[in-house]
Formats: sequence, structure tokens, C-alpha cells
Amino acid sequence: MLTLRHRPYTLALRHTFRLARGDSDERYNLFVELEHDGLIGRGEAAPIPRYAQDQASAAAAVETMVARWNRQRFDPRRFEGAVARVAVAGQPAAAAALDMALYDLAGKRLGVPLHELLGLDPAGAAITSLTLGMDDAETLARKVAEADAFPVLKVKMGTADDRAVIEAVRAVTDKPLWVDANEGWTLDGARARLPWLAERGVELVEQPLPAGKLAEMRALRADSPLPLIADESVGTLADIPRLAGAFDGINIKLMKCGGPGEALKMIAAARAHGLQVMLGCMVESSLAVTAAAQLSPLVDYADLDGNLLVANDPFTGVTVKQGRLRLPTDPGLGVRER
Ligand code: MG
Repeated sequence: MLTLRHRPYTLALRHTFRLARGDSDERYNLFVELEHDGLIGRGEAAPIPRYAQDQASAAAAVETMVARWNRQRFDPRRFEGAVARVAVAGQPAAAAALDMALYDLAGKRLGVPLHELLGLDPAGAAITSLTLGMDDAETLARKVAEADAFPVLKVKMGTADDRAVIEAVRAVTDKPLWVDANEGWTLDGARARLPWLAERGVELVEQPLPAGKLAEMRALRADSPLPLIADESVGTLADIPRLAGAFDGINIKLMKCGGPGEALKMIAAARAHGLQVMLGCMVESSLAVTAAAQLSPLVDYADLDGNLLVANDPFTGVTVKQGRLRLPTDPGLGVRER
């Protein structure tokens, strides 16, 4: 018998976050605990409003899923495929919370951190970028200075005057940049920008076109000077085959795919299709970001800074040293309450 507890939590952002889709100061996540045999596995859902999820729908989904498990007399030692078996349609963030809680339980039961459970070398954990929102030049300069320890910066673009953002960042740093257009460009607009960005030390571009525009993406990629990474175009394993040829890589997020188990399958599938892999996150506490970071020795790029944007993070876990993720060694996810 699994006992479920969950509680809503409002994450306060350090800075108002400006994106092509709009500004925000707070995020509304859900923490879960799964208790079994005297051990507690923790998880976090960051429901994505764009996909019709919120705290209430995530809470209802985790209750439904755990009730289904208990009716099936589910044994959490045999957790492979367990989340998919009971998943609630349209609620991948809730699935992610429970899946990471099952991995946390497994690691705690065996007394090993998740990376060790998976046979991964923590020294191979990825470098992570720090993301800058779309701000005025003065604010960007201050944020670039604050990001001194990060070797790569990710810049949000996707509005009409977005070249000014790159110029403002370039005025104060020559670090490599990743650009995330968040679906904000047209095919012609992207074609005009890519060579300009390549000349300015940009190393990759994420989601230049709207999610469904795969034919246009194939055309764009044919003469792109930069690798193009899918984010909004990819959710789960099933999306990957059709992205080969349209993108050079995919951004895997636990909240889109439903947890570490699905993410591991996606990494393998991406490799089989010749795609690079980025691990990303939503705005999350150190709980969910650490769960993703534990997989990072497997990937090419990490953009796991969601916890660094939060002023009231109730957990500690992964840390960043000179831009590289340092994985905690406590059993399971390796996360502690502050
Ligand atoms: Mg993105």
C-alpha cells in the first residue's frame, strides 16, 4: 500500500521573467510524497498552463494514479512502466512527479543515488546554461554579470526587435550563447536571423518555428549554419521519429515527458535517430531539477537552471560549480528539505 501526500506550492521568481508568450512573477507547482515501507519518495509537478494543466488538475491526477496503483496492489520495487500504466491523459507533470518519487524510493531502498542506480559517472554531468529573459540592455548587463560562473548563457528571443537582445548581451560578454526563440519566428524570419546569430557566437537555436511546422523546419535545417533543437515540438518518445531530419536535437523535459523513466527511453531513441540531446526544465524547485540533473551524464547540453530562478526554493540538491552540475550523493534523488 502506497500512501500519497501532496501540497501546492507557489514559487516566487527572483526576477520577472519575460518571454515571447508574456511576463510572469510566480509559478504554481505541486509537491508529492509517496510513502512505502517506512521510506518516503519525493516528487514535484510543474503543471504547464499552455497544455491545460494547473495545480488542481495535477493534484487530481496524482490521486487518481495512486488510487489505481493501490487497487492493482502495485509493488513499487517493480516500478518500470508503472506510471504509464496508470497515467491520466494530458497530465504529464503529475506523472513526472510520481515517476521521480518512485526513483527516489528505489534509490533510498537500495542506498544509492539515482546516477549510481543508473550506472552513470557523476563526473560526466553536463555543463548547464543560465537563461536570460528578454530585458532591456541595462538589466541584461546586470544579469550577465550575475551569471559570471556560467560558461554558457541561453538567451530568449522571439519578438520583432529581438536582435537588440543579442547585441546587448554581446556588448558585455563573449561567452558562447544558446538562443531559444520559443516558436517566435517565421521561416523567412528564421532564415534571416540564423547566419547573423552564427556570426555572433551563437552555438545553437531552440524551437525557431511553431511546434507543428515540421515541413518548414526541414527546409530551414537544410541550409542552417547552426544546430536546431526541438523543444515545443517534442513531448514524449512517440514524437521523436518524425523529428529526425527536421531538427538536430531535442530538449527533453521531465514535465513534458512524464518522468525520468520516459526521459531515459527518449535519450536512447534520440541517439538512434542521430539527434543530440538537451535536458531542460520548467521553473522548478531543486527537487525536480535535481531529478533531471541525475540523468545529465547522458546528454550533450543541460539547461537546468529553473531552481536558480526561484527565491523560495524549499529544497537543496544539485549545485553548480563553474557551470558544471554537481550531483548530490545522498540516496535516491539526493534532495533534502532546507
Ligand atoms: Mg525552450
